[in-house]
Amino acid sequence: MSASVIDFVATEARFGAHNYEPIGVVLSRGEGVWVWDTEDNRYLDCLSAYSAVSQGHCHPKILAAMVEQAHRLTLTSRAFHNDQLAPFYEEIAALTGSHKVLPMNSGAEAVESAVKSVRKWGYEVKGVPDGQAEIIVCANNFHGRTLGIVGFSTDPETRTHFGPFAPGFRIVPFGDAAALEAAITPNTVAFLVEPIQGEAGVIIPPSGYFTEVRELCTANNVMLVLDEIQTGLGRTGKLLAEQHEEIEADVTLLGKALSGGFYPVSAVLSNTDVLGTLRPGQHGSTFGGNPLACAVARAAMRVLIEEGMIENAARQGARFLDGLRDIRANTIREVRGRGLMLAVELHPKAGRARRYCEALQGKGILAKDTHEHTIRIAPPLVITTDQVDWALERFAAILTQDFS
Ligand SMILES: *Cc1c(COP(=O)(O)O)cnc(C)c1O
Repeated sequence: MSASVIDFVATEARFGAHNYEPIGVVLSRGEGVWVWDTEDNRYLDCLSAYSAVSQGHCHPKILAAMVEQAHRLTLTSRAFHNDQLAPFYEEIAALTGSHKVLPMNSGAEAVESAVKSVRKWGYEVKGVPDGQAEIIVCANNFHGRTLGIVGFSTDPETRTHFGPFAPGFRIVPFGDAAALEAAITPNTVAFLVEPIQGEAGVIIPPSGYFTEVRELCTANNVMLVLDEIQTGLGRTGKLLAEQHEEIEADVTLLGKALSGGFYPVSAVLSNTDVLGTLRPGQHGSTFGGNPLACAVARAAMRVLIEEGMIENAARQGARFLDGLRDIRANTIREVRGRGLMLAVELHPKAGRARRYCEALQGKGILAKDTHEHTIRIAPPLVITTDQVDWALERFAAILTQDFS
C-alpha cells in the first residue's frame, strides 16, 4: 500500500468505530462494473455494495435524474405532498404487482416497518390478543442491524451484549417447512424470511420449500413476508426471487438496488390488508418518500427494465455459475448461486476466504468473504460475457492456489 492509502486507512482506524474490517483498497471512482482506487488501479466489483449497485456504478441515467431532482426539490417531509411520490407509487406497484407501498430509507427500516405493520394487522384484522403477536423467522437470517432485528438473529456476533431484546419472535431452521408448521400458533401473524439467505452465504432452500411455505401461511392466515432487499430487483435473474418459486408474498421488502446505489431508498410492499392498518401518526420517517429518493428510485427501476438487466443477470449468472463449477480445485467445497447471486464455499482446510479475497484484489477483482469460508460473488447486473470470462480466469488462478 502506498503512503496515501495507508493514511486513509489509518485515519479511519483512528477516528472510526471499528465495526467493519474492509479489504485494504481505497476507492475513489466507479463506472459500470468497474471501480478505481486512489492510485488508479482498476477492479471488477464483485460485491456491488452488497447488491445495492446492481445497475452499475454511477449509472448516467440515474445520475441525471438525481441531479435534475436535486436542483428542483429534495425534501418536503410527508407533512406535504410532493410531485414525485405518486408516480413512484404507481411505478413500483405496476412493476411488482403490489397494492400498497410504504416508502422508507434503509433496508432495516423496511424490515422494522413490516414487523410493526404485521403485528398491527394481527391485532386489528386477525384478532390476536393484544401484546401476544408472534413472528416466525429463520435461523441464520440477516435482516439488518437495528435492535428489533438483531434480537431475532441467531448469530452470536450480531447479538452479543446488545440486549435486552424484544419478545415475540420464534426461530425455525431455514428450508424446513415441517418446522415452520410446528411453530405456527393461533397468535402467529407472520413468517419473515429471505428467499435466498444472502449474508448466511447464499443459501438456496430445497426446491418446493416455498410452495409449502406459501400453503402453510395461507392455511393458517399468516402473512408471508419476503425480505427481497438483497434478492430483489433482478439480482437472481428474475425481478423478484419469489418468481423462481412461483409464489406471491403478502408483504415484500425492497431496498439496496431500489436506488441503484445512489441514495438509501427502501419500501414495504403489501396487499391492502397489512399496510392498510396504518393510520396517520402511527408510523413515519422524515426522509421516507422524499422527492429526491423517489426520483432516484424511479430512474433506477426504469433502467433495470429498459436496459434488460434482469435478463442479463439470468444469462451471465448461468455462465458465471457454470464457469465456477468448471474450476477444478481442491480448495472448493461447493459452488452455488442463482442469477448473479453466487458463492464459492471453500474447504475449511483451504484457509480463510479473506485470504482469497485479498489475492483476488491483486488480480483486479474485489469480492468479499462471508462467514470465514465463503466468497460471495455479486457483480453489477450490467456485466458482459467478456467480463464474466475475464473474472473466471482470475477466480480459477486464485482458487487453484492454497492459502492454508
Ligand atoms: C442488506 C440487507 C438488509 C438491511 O439493509 P440495510 O440497508 O443495510 O439496513 C436487510 N435484509 C437483507 C436480506 C439484506 O441483505
